[in-house]
Order: sequence, then C-alpha cells, then structure tokens
Amino acid sequence: MTNMSIFRDGLVGEIAVIGLGRSGSAVAELLVRDGHAVYASDSSAGRESSAAGARLRELGMDVDVGAHDLARVGSAALVVVSPGVPPSAAPLAAARESGREVVSEVEIALHYLPRLRYIAVSGTNGKTTTTALVGQMLRALGHDAPDAGNIGTPLASLALRTQPPAWAALELSSFQLHDTPSLRPTVRVLTNLSPDHLDRYASVADYYADKARLFANTTAESVVVVNADDAAVLEMAGAYPGTRSRFSASGAVGEARYDRDSGLLELLGRPLMPRAELPLLGDHNVANALAAALAVAMADGAHRTDSARQIITEVLRSFHALPHRMEPVVEVDGVLWINDSKATNVSSTHVALEGMTRPYVLLLGGRHKGEPYTSLAEPFRRLGRTTLAFGEARDQIVRDLGELLPVERLDGDFASVVARAREIAGPGDAVLLSPACSSYDMFNNYEQRGDVFRELARGPER
Ligand code: ADP
Repeated sequence: MTNMSIFRDGLVGEIAVIGLGRSGSAVAELLVRDGHAVYASDSSAGRESSAAGARLRELGMDVDVGAHDLARVGSAALVVVSPGVPPSAAPLAAARESGREVVSEVEIALHYLPRLRYIAVSGTNGKTTTTALVGQMLRALGHDAPDAGNIGTPLASLALRTQPPAWAALELSSFQLHDTPSLRPTVRVLTNLSPDHLDRYASVADYYADKARLFANTTAESVVVVNADDAAVLEMAGAYPGTRSRFSASGAVGEARYDRDSGLLELLGRPLMPRAELPLLGDHNVANALAAALAVAMADGAHRTDSARQIITEVLRSFHALPHRMEPVVEVDGVLWINDSKATNVSSTHVALEGMTRPYVLLLGGRHKGEPYTSLAEPFRRLGRTTLAFGEARDQIVRDLGELLPVERLDGDFASVVARAREIAGPGDAVLLSPACSSYDMFNNYEQRGDVFRELARGPER
C-alpha cells in the first residue's frame, strides 16, 4: 500500500491507538480533536500510562491500561502504533490477523502537518547524532525546527501546536519506516547499513527492506543524501529515482567529503572547515557531520549562501557529543573514561574502536542480539589492551574473540566489571564502554547503563 487510503478517503469507524507513551497520547488526542472515535490502550498499568489514560478519558475516548481489548483492536477501522511497541506485541498480531491496516504515529501526524518541510534521517547508526546536527543547523539558520521522532518531540505533539513548525529534523527507526507509507520528506538521509535487530527481524533482508522504505514515494525531484563509503547504501538508493548527493568521510568522491590530504571538510566543492575544529570524537562523526551539512544545504537554496555555510560551520564547531555516544566522562589518575553505552550493535562498537586515539580496556557485553563479534578483532588490535566480556553475552564473546584477543570473562555485576577495568587501566589509557549489545540483561535501557557507568567511573569521592 503506498498511501493511507482508508484514512484519506474519510475513515468510518473506530481507530485503535496502541501504546500510551508520549507519541501514543499525542496522536490519540490529535485524532479525537479531529472528530474520530478512538480506543487507546497500553499493556502497562504503570504510573505514567495510568496518568495518560486518565487524561485521554477526559478528552472523551475509551481507554484501557494494563491490558488491550484484542477483539476491539481486531475490529478497528485503523490501528495506530507507537514507536516503542514491538511488531510481535499481541494487539499488533491481532490487528494483522484480522487484516487491519497498521500505521505509525508519524504517518497520522504527517497527515495533519501538510506543509511541514522535514529532513528525515535513517540508517543503522548515527541517526540521533545526525538528526541533532540537522536540527541545530536549521534552527541556527533561523527556522522554527524542532528535533522530532525518536530523538525528541513526537511529530504528533508538533501537529497539536496552535502554530505548527515550518521545519523539523526527523529521526526514523526501521520500525517507524515500516508503517509510514506517506513519507515525503524534503530531504532523505541514509547514514549507513549493517546487520542489526536480528533479535526482532527474521533476517537481514527483512531489516533492509524496512530501511528501503525511506525511499517510498521518491520521484525525479526527490533529494536523497547517501553515504558514498557504504556499498549497501549506494545499492539501495540506486534503485530509486531522485538526485543523489553523496558524503564521504574516507575522502572518496562526494558533494560533501573529508579531504585527508588537506585535513579539510568540504561541502559542494569548497572547503568548509578543518576537521581538527570538529569537537566530536571518531571518523564516524566526521561522516555524521558531513551528512548533516549536506542534507541542510540540499534542503533549500538559501542554505547554500556564504553566510549560511558560515552558520553551518559554527554549529559543527560548537557541537559536543550527545550523552552515551563516545562521551568523555572523566579523567582520573591519567585514565580517560568514555561512555559509548549507545553502541548496542557490533558495527557501532567497530567505529568506536576505529576512532580511539589511546590504548584502552574495552567493556563488551550485555544481551546478545545475534551478530558475531569476530569483526571487532581487527580494529581492536591497533590500540586495544584487554576486553572484559560481561553480561549474558560473555560466553558468546569468549567463543568469538577468545582466540583472537586478550579476553577476560567476568561473571559478576556491572560494578565489579568496572572495578576490574580500573585495576587494569594505567595512566595514558582509556576505559571504553562500547558494549555492542543491548542492556536489558542488567539495566532498563542503554541510558541507565551509561548513567551507572558514569557514576562508577567518577568514583565515590568525586
Ligand atoms: P542511532 O541513533 O542510529 O543509534 P547515534 O547517533 O545515537 O545513532 O549513535 C549511536 C552509536 O552508534 C554511537 O555511540 C557510535 O558508536 C555509533 N555511530 C554513530 N554514528 C555512526 C556512524 N556514522 N557510523 C557508524 N557508527 C556510528
């Protein structure tokens, strides 16, 4: 289906909204305000969903918290899903079984934001960093342009504003792309592709198929920003119409590139700034910086003037690491502690290792997501000293890397893992948490894992 036909043609009947987080609540409110009958439900009966439920009931909709009425979901005219709800969740299975159309919160919000110009960012890694850069550049250029989607405000909340913004920087996961058939961004950015989420997708091909939906509705006029260093990205984008602008951190040809000889980042054939002035760590962030600058420049002619280029450069110069993404935490007794808890897959840890500039102890582990760790051996050898394998994935890590690198298998809790790292690391070293796994075996999420790491790194007396 290329369009949300039943919605656009005047939907008759009840709309079921699954998930009452920020996006679900906002989209439910949006639909009720437009006169639709809405049934909203959340499997959790926690404080937040109960509060959201109470508020939505006041707006006149039927709400269940702590359970979904699956029969009701199965007979809804349309089912709207929040980004956090996995495709395997019971109400989505019920919707699919009875042939209901399932769409994302983003899909509905876009319908109510017909004039929005937005730069949509997807890819396996670098989405949030690139989206944050894009948003900051758009705002610095004078636009009302919130960061939206996964990174920040739900798009539906923006649609509820009395004065919706003119622009947005929109981060989209593969799950959201799956259910957003009406996507028509001003610029589409695909940062990179590598296997991920094998715990939630049956195959890499299925995961890539969702990513390819970033190119839905492309025409000859579409503007697409792609990574020239990533063959899978080029191949995927090549199958669709539109202008392709390429960025390259390796210095390959591209409309935005890093010239290794001169040390300069270039945009549209002209130098933009020395790489040395970019405060972000690692080559992958050079790629993110180039992707963002190129996307913003391609979004509007007014963004390509000399003064606009100056503004884009200023944003890049002043942009510091986001929390949990190669975030320097503290230097204690000559040891630098780096929190890269957001590295929840092998490819993001790979780039973290490539970006290291001093010897380090690597904290690797958590809940295994299905990918082998063997590819980490090569970048590790350059500056890595020891790998500490922890969490549920520790045996798998030892199996994959034990014969290739020094690996210690640790059975204890996270604090004992950090304590062991402290023992091993000496002055001039770093301790890098870049776990290549999800956090759910020991923590609620990667943010909590990073917060705990930060506290332990700083030590009790600091
Ligand atoms: P996402 O939102 O796609 O998860 P983030 O910007 O939050 O991406 O970065 C998450 C992690 O992915 C970072 O800590 C880093 O290790 C890795 N990463 C960031 N940008 C890139 C990139 N361009 N290529 C590969 N890995 C990256």
